[in-house]
Amino acid sequence: MHDIPEKTDQYVLNTYARAPFVLVQGQGMTVTDSDGKQYLDFVSGISVNALGHTDREITAAINEQIAQLSHVCNLYHTAPHADLAELLCTTSFADKVYFCNSGGEAVEAAIKFARKYARTAHNPGKTDIVAFTGSFHGRTAGALALTAREKYQAPFRPLMPGVSFAPFNDIDAAHKLIGPGTCAVFVEPVQGEGGVHIADPAFLEALRAACDHYGALLVFDEIQSGMGRTGKLWAHEHAGITPDIMTVAKALGGGLPIGATLLTDRVAAVMQPGDHGSTFAANPVICRAAEVVLRRVSDPAMLDHVTHMGEHLRARLQELHSPHIQEVRGLGLMIGVQMDIDVLPVVQQGYEHGLLLLNAGPTVLRLLPPLIIEETHVDQLIARLDAILTEIAAA
Ligand SMILES: *Cc1c(COP(=O)(O)O)cnc(C)c1O
Repeated sequence: MHDIPEKTDQYVLNTYARAPFVLVQGQGMTVTDSDGKQYLDFVSGISVNALGHTDREITAAINEQIAQLSHVCNLYHTAPHADLAELLCTTSFADKVYFCNSGGEAVEAAIKFARKYARTAHNPGKTDIVAFTGSFHGRTAGALALTAREKYQAPFRPLMPGVSFAPFNDIDAAHKLIGPGTCAVFVEPVQGEGGVHIADPAFLEALRAACDHYGALLVFDEIQSGMGRTGKLWAHEHAGITPDIMTVAKALGGGLPIGATLLTDRVAAVMQPGDHGSTFAANPVICRAAEVVLRRVSDPAMLDHVTHMGEHLRARLQELHSPHIQEVRGLGLMIGVQMDIDVLPVVQQGYEHGLLLLNAGPTVLRLLPPLIIEETHVDQLIARLDAILTEIAAA
């Protein structure tokens, strides 16, 4: 196993800086590397493993379905597909679901749906999209155009035209950009990659009103913030503002790849057979896994647990004695620790101390633990972080 990092470097395209160990097993809050060393997971594969690693019910659902039927494509009906679509609609604002395989694809679908809706319900010139500073909507070509990170966009210009960015949470600036030519406004109710920033309820309300005024669609990207992560099933429920389209992915598949674009009947009505599609989408095995995850994370007892553990974790983080911590913010178990130093050394020291940690930009430490986290895991995190921050202060 010691040659695995070398082999990865030799044969795998260099698009990620990987940690210097090889993970071989996971259970609950913990993953184990090839030397038998254990790590408490505060990353969840970037907000994916909501029920922790190797959950028994997910594993059983996968095993059962894969032994029965693993793929047929979208030319045929399957029960897992219909069942998951029904559950997504009954647990959200949506009337219809489009399935795909990742977050980026869910955003691409949302762009296409918004364009077709504007052209059909209004006019073909209504194609502009408004998004916000600090946004992250994905790496695919369309989603990249909505992602306000110069570093991500610069090498790949020209990007999809018609996109403009207003400062996040700035209502006046948003009003200046949203107009008759706008087909959609894309926003994360809680920005993840951009540094864990929560959209003000008044900001979302203003976007809703401006979209209604100009006949534009409001699109919430809940790929990271959805699926119970913030203590509500969907983060926008905190603000009480409903979108026309919502993108979901990450935690939905219980570790397997799936994305979904949720929409209202009004928007769905413009899409016809042949307008969009995907070979792998709505894979029956993944749909069965997703049904387990969605049923479990939408349980009010689970959402209460997330709220309680989120408050507890933020309170404990606030007690840490480090001159470098400027702010602890977040909603539920989507937490950012704003520091005044580069946090990559903290993430790296975390490995030594048996912690998987994540950054969000250069100076924000991001915590996205499995939603099944208990107080004892928080205790361990705080003790280890305390040691790490002491080491960094001494260095
Ligand atoms: C991760 C993420 C995406 C992209 O999802 P992929 O599955 O990596 O393509 C899009 N939007 C948000 C808010 C995300 O966090």
